[in-house]
Amino acid sequence: MSARGQNDLPVRGFLGEELIEEIRNRNDIVDVISSYVKLQKKGSSYFGLCPFHNEKSPSFSVSRSKQMYYCFGCGAGGNVFTFIMEYENYTFLEAARFLAERAGIEIPEVEYSQEAKERASLKATLLEINKIAAKYFYAQLKSEQGKLAYSYLTNRGLSEDVITAFGLGYSNKYSDDLYKYLKMKGYSDEIISKAGLITVNEKNGAYDKFWNRVMFPIMDANNRVIGFGGRVMGKGEPKYLNSPETEVFDKSRNLYGLNRARTSRKNYFLLCEGYMDVIALHQAGFTNAVASLGTAFTTGHASLIKRYVNEVYLTFDSDEAGTKAALRALPILRAAGITAKIIRMEPYKDPDEFIKNLGAEAFEERINKARNGFLFSLEILERDYDMNSPEGKTDFFNEVASRLTQFEEEIERNNYIEAVADKYHVGFENLRKLVGKTAIKMGLATPATKPKQPVGNQGTKVDGHLHSQKALLTWLIENERLFSQIKAYISPNDFTQELYREVAKLLYEQYEQGDVNPAKIMNHFMDEEEHREVASLFHTKIQQLSTRDEQEKALKETIIRVKTYSVEEATRSLEPTDIVGLQKLMAEKRNLQDLQKLHISIE
Ligand SMILES: [Zn+2]
Repeated sequence: MSARGQNDLPVRGFLGEELIEEIRNRNDIVDVISSYVKLQKKGSSYFGLCPFHNEKSPSFSVSRSKQMYYCFGCGAGGNVFTFIMEYENYTFLEAARFLAERAGIEIPEVEYSQEAKERASLKATLLEINKIAAKYFYAQLKSEQGKLAYSYLTNRGLSEDVITAFGLGYSNKYSDDLYKYLKMKGYSDEIISKAGLITVNEKNGAYDKFWNRVMFPIMDANNRVIGFGGRVMGKGEPKYLNSPETEVFDKSRNLYGLNRARTSRKNYFLLCEGYMDVIALHQAGFTNAVASLGTAFTTGHASLIKRYVNEVYLTFDSDEAGTKAALRALPILRAAGITAKIIRMEPYKDPDEFIKNLGAEAFEERINKARNGFLFSLEILERDYDMNSPEGKTDFFNEVASRLTQFEEEIERNNYIEAVADKYHVGFENLRKLVGKTAIKMGLATPATKPKQPVGNQGTKVDGHLHSQKALLTWLIENERLFSQIKAYISPNDFTQELYREVAKLLYEQYEQGDVNPAKIMNHFMDEEEHREVASLFHTKIQQLSTRDEQEKALKETIIRVKTYSVEEATRSLEPTDIVGLQKLMAEKRNLQDLQKLHISIE
């Protein structure tokens, strides 16, 4: 999770909390979102098709009482400001101005004085510098000195439209050109260096990191330039150079092309290896292509993808390195719950080459013929075994069986067993038995045909506790009667996750002041990422129980679970010499006992 969104702090300070609240209050979220998304009332909420991911049945909810939206499909969520920022790609100030105008509220003009600039946080400044640099590179490409670079791009088959759409540019031959330009704009060596655009050393002073390169601005999902990739013109090393990681550029949490792919309206992404692949695919009409940024594919990338789609087609290079990279990405995607398929590009090396030679239609055909990622990984595995000898074959199938145990759902596992049996001409039942035996050997299953327990379930246990904490927050928002009944037993400190605790604290304050207003709580968090998370805290799916008795029982169980875990955690972290802490803990344990006797009433 990113640091508390400092980039908007100066702006918020400038507008003032009161004005921000007034703007929010006078823009009812249902009215605002209705002008973008067709909403239908269902119970106490409104539902529609999510504008942030592709879906066929509505999981996007808007609540008038909470003044929040939340998508149960992709987790997008927030208040009316967040929606406008995400939908229109606006900064907070732009969104505030837009909504103020909509409600007929006047807001003062911002003047970016030197002082305001200084107050602006590092992040905002880095984004600003990156934007200026991107524009500068773009202008260079269109200038006389950029001619060679421009013809390099057009020779590679890129159209004017695509060059503009991706904001491609050129860093010219002088190695301090951009540096001088940014200095002229008033930026210090320190900040330019923090943006990763210059290298400073004692002998040569400051010089540009990128020169004589075709430049690819790297944007985040919200179209903000966070870094650059540069390909050298002519011969030079390294051929490709990327910005270093900075405050705004985390390579393992960004994908090249995501800003465009997320709006492509396809329900899968094409995952490829490089910038040129993404751009070539885009030009050929495949606007759902993304690439990891000069690093191996990570779990961060996978969870980013999962926000938008559940399926990925890997279009990695058809050489040994590309195959290896694909094999590494497969389990990561699987673990994130993403289905992966492999597109083969033989006899060509990469999508760029493939499309140049065979065209978009042929590529579309390859997409349709894409192979299942698991079966592909077995084909590669075969190479390590002597498939002509009985021993080699046995070893191979033992390995296959152990890989098949990774499918936890029986139906899914059987589907895979069937596919493998088919492909390698072995009996389904034989293979299924082998998988069962292997699972027992690996300690994954008990001999009885019970569904197996995952080995390390610590992770799911913690998740379960966090879920209870979330559910309790949702309950507290949805039923105002609860607070007075449980405040003596549960305090904000019982929420073990920092963000949850902070939200609980704000919610408790609102209750004490008699003004419960979840959307206002969101004003305390500035990062869109945090808005999503806060929105999810207030939208936990609570089991629909029919009777009041059942609901009260479930609620009580949740409260006890939250308290028990909090006490457990406190016990774990207690220092033996901490007498005060110990006394407090004893009191909490008594509290827990009282809680067992508590009767909770929801009506
Ligand atoms: Zn969604």
